[in-house]
Amino acid sequence: MKGCVFDIQRFSIHDGPGIRTTVFLKGCPLNCRWCCNPESINLLPELMFNPELCIGCGFCVEVCEVGASSIKGFDRSRCTGCGKCADRCYAEAKYVKGRYMEPKDVLEKVLKDVSFYKRTNGGVTFSGGEPLLQIDFLEEVLNLCQTKNLSSAIETCGYVPWKNFERIAHLVEVFLFDIKSTNNIKHIEYTGVGCERIMENCERLTKIAKRLVIRVPVIPGFNYSLDDITQIIRFAEKIGVREVNFLPYHRFAESKYSYMGLEYWNPSVERLDDSLLKEFIDKIETFIKVKIGG
Ligand code: SF4
Ligand code: SF4
Repeated sequence: MKGCVFDIQRFSIHDGPGIRTTVFLKGCPLNCRWCCNPESINLLPELMFNPELCIGCGFCVEVCEVGASSIKGFDRSRCTGCGKCADRCYAEAKYVKGRYMEPKDVLEKVLKDVSFYKRTNGGVTFSGGEPLLQIDFLEEVLNLCQTKNLSSAIETCGYVPWKNFERIAHLVEVFLFDIKSTNNIKHIEYTGVGCERIMENCERLTKIAKRLVIRVPVIPGFNYSLDDITQIIRFAEKIGVREVNFLPYHRFAESKYSYMGLEYWNPSVERLDDSLLKEFIDKIETFIKVKIGG
């Protein structure tokens, strides 16, 4: 079956071991305020608009059947994401994020860099969004990757039915599992869902995963505190995880919000410096391997 993919990035070095190709799948059950891939949340293809590229030709307005397209942008509430305006936009100011792909076509793209994977112990990483939401498609691609001896990694937010993990765990070399907070109330406030199911899935997955690394996006105003970070490290120790990566907050996604007609969550929050975060985390005693960055 086809899956909705919104990006395929070659030569990634932060999404698992070695050099990797990262395949980004659409759809996420969370709605994190700071999300760095806001175009991933909706399961369907979605229109983006970069006003700096627009030359004001008006072709996009002529072809829109629902009257959602305008020279200044588009009406998000009426747009169906059909992409007709993007097809007519030669300036590439309007473009669609997300397209339906066959598993074999994803494999074909991923195989282009197989020589780099071999030299660096790399492979393919499925990210999103939440890749386990499109479980039938994901399982099919993972099986294809295995037929070519490709190493697969999964980046997951953990908020999916446990049976989805059970279906694919044997096909995955490493899970990069997001734990954002162990405080349920705060988790609901900042991501839209609680963390209980996520923590339970994480603990269960440690029993069947070949390798599991906890990843923590560190966000000022949300979890950048000694207490929050200590709690996450203690949780990792308790369930037997030996690697935790802390990912400092950055603002690379800010422009994407405006391209989608959305407001950025908190423009006053500055990016977090790696060395500051390291100094902070070094205060916490642990036997776990802790790293800054992916
Ligand atoms: S088709 Fe593209 S360049 Fe022309 S008005 Fe529409 S968005 Fe602007
Ligand atoms: S994607 Fe389709 S519905 Fe949306 S603005 Fe463009 S033409 Fe109109």
